[in-house]
Amino acid sequence: MCGIMGYIGDRDTTKVILEGLAKHEYRGYDSAGIAVIKDNKISELRTIGRVSQLAERVAKEHFTGDFGHTRWATHGGVTENNAHPHVSSDHRVVLVHNGIIENAREIRADLEAHGIKFHTETDTESAAVKGRQAWTAAAGLFGSAGTMIKRFFSGCAGMLRRAAKHIWTFLTGPWKKGKWGQN
Ligand code: GLU
Repeated sequence: MCGIMGYIGDRDTTKVILEGLAKHEYRGYDSAGIAVIKDNKISELRTIGRVSQLAERVAKEHFTGDFGHTRWATHGGVTENNAHPHVSSDHRVVLVHNGIIENAREIRADLEAHGIKFHTETDTESAAVKGRQAWTAAAGLFGSAGTMIKRFFSGCAGMLRRAAKHIWTFLTGPWKKGKWGQN
């Protein structure tokens, strides 16, 4: 387990996210990333190593982000490509995730059988892709997002996804059964 940070507000969002990720460092992690949706376009920046290395790249590339993640790899190697955030192949959904999606293998196999290509080794990407599908099927109803998480994914997970004006958080798992939140 590692860290998730999201922020909407008047402060310098990138600074808030990077400082927040740094505060999570004690939990342990191997890579970090940050993303933003601006003008309906997702941009993400990811790096192996310390939050300070991510911060250096953020500064160098003048990147602005409003949610971020520190990863402790459980599915797939410690690579920049496996670092979060993960984006659906149509670039409409982006998410970060802590924990393990226990049925990721089944979800992935099913999607691959339908011709969908995966770009990382993570369990998280299956949620990004499946989440995008479910979102489309529900005609973009925001209220469907929590239902979708409960319906499709098993295991313990905290997720955060950024839609146009919202950051959504989700919690699943035995200790929170039936409860999920958004803010
Ligand atoms: N299971 C995810 C992965 O391997 C997230 C691990 C975590 O950072 O909690 O990428």
